[in-house]
Amino acid sequence: MFKDLKPDKITLREWSRQFQEIDDNTIHKYRYYGNPEWGMYLSPPATFMVYGARELKRLKFDNSLAALRLWGFVFNESERLFRARQSGKKVIATMGDLGTIPVIVTSFPDCISFYPECTWWTPFFNESTVLLNKASELGIPEASCFVRATLAAFLKRAYFPKPDLILASTGASCDDYSSIMQQVENLGYEFTWLEIPYRRDYKDYAYNSSSKTGNGKKCDERLEKYLVKEYQKAWEKMVGLTGINDLSILQENIKKTNVLRRLVNSIKELCYDADAAPFPALEMMAIEFGNLYAYADFDEWLSILQMVYETIKDRVRRKVGVLNNNALPIAWVTPTADPLLLNIMEDAGCRVVASEYVINQAMVEIDQDIDPLHALARSFINASLIGSTRARVDRIKAQVEAGRIAGVIITNMLGASHCAMESRLIEKMLDKVPVLSIDVPAPSGITEQLKTRIAAFVETLRCAKS
Ligand code: SF4
Repeated sequence: MFKDLKPDKITLREWSRQFQEIDDNTIHKYRYYGNPEWGMYLSPPATFMVYGARELKRLKFDNSLAALRLWGFVFNESERLFRARQSGKKVIATMGDLGTIPVIVTSFPDCISFYPECTWWTPFFNESTVLLNKASELGIPEASCFVRATLAAFLKRAYFPKPDLILASTGASCDDYSSIMQQVENLGYEFTWLEIPYRRDYKDYAYNSSSKTGNGKKCDERLEKYLVKEYQKAWEKMVGLTGINDLSILQENIKKTNVLRRLVNSIKELCYDADAAPFPALEMMAIEFGNLYAYADFDEWLSILQMVYETIKDRVRRKVGVLNNNALPIAWVTPTADPLLLNIMEDAGCRVVASEYVINQAMVEIDQDIDPLHALARSFINASLIGSTRARVDRIKAQVEAGRIAGVIITNMLGASHCAMESRLIEKMLDKVPVLSIDVPAPSGITEQLKTRIAAFVETLRCAKS
């Protein structure tokens, strides 16, 4: 049935009806950790609403089997982490660097990594302020990033198991999250701190002409050396935890990571260049974030993405998509904590064709021909958050200049240190394109007024185009 379906975005109810037509073999075929007894994850999205993700009833999802696998897998993560612990795997929390330390962690057999900060979506999916309120009680004020939900999640111990090790990156990154990590440490968790240095603008570098950083840019040798020292610390911690010390396993893991990163870049290119949008923005955001840690099961996530790629390729070949063909191309800057905003933007008549979700470091390929720790350092030098705002918006500006986007939406968190302050600068720097900057409201807080602002922005873009 899935092969011939017209691509569409459908509701929870429609997915439940459609799910009944999936045969048992298909349902039993897909397993996380390859486990035949308890690894099943394919279920109708309504299952996760019953578990507490109430916002799902407001969202629309792509109607392909690939998307069903994707969401079943993403929403199953909490169960997967506890299962990992039960089955003897080591569960390592990687915090703050978004995409590089997991390459070290998952090189070690039976070690998996996860990002506790991804809990920031939980209050929105659950339409609940429980975690945010608890974080406030613990001293993190309301006027700070929603990532404060992470602190409460560590306290409650119900969202992920107690980590065997915490590798936390701080320094020239986000202040909100750095202070939240310190509060987690104050709860009694043992932290291994890694320092992220600041990246000066590329043009200011003392270049080492032989260096590659995965995007053709040259890198600062001192910065690279500093990061290597920090990665050595992370490596030694993992050696202490596992008793294994073999850098060739990291080299192999870098190759695997590159397979994933190449695939995601191909998916993005296919999707963003197509005449008709072949896949929705919400699913695309989940795909980009999968580059951080493959949702704690690399092989299964890669297999899901291969199916996504085939689905998109087929739709592009048939020239069919999930949105109106006249949807206006926009760029989205900073990930939205409330996924519903992506649906609302598409319903208003836009499609995302470029993104800057503060995870550029996880999107670039890692050099496979040099010492693996140096290779990781060079790839991380591309990080979105460790340099100037100007460097961060360069890629979006290039898209504007190429005439590929009609407007930009920025989502920020009122009172947050990093995103909120940067948003104004980004707005100023993108002076050749209409920009709408939105403060993401608290869970269940999207008002008609906000929807009207988005609709009015789209109307402006449409007028400017005609
Ligand atoms: S303020 Fe921005 S960078 Fe900092 S934790 Fe929140 S979303 Fe991430």
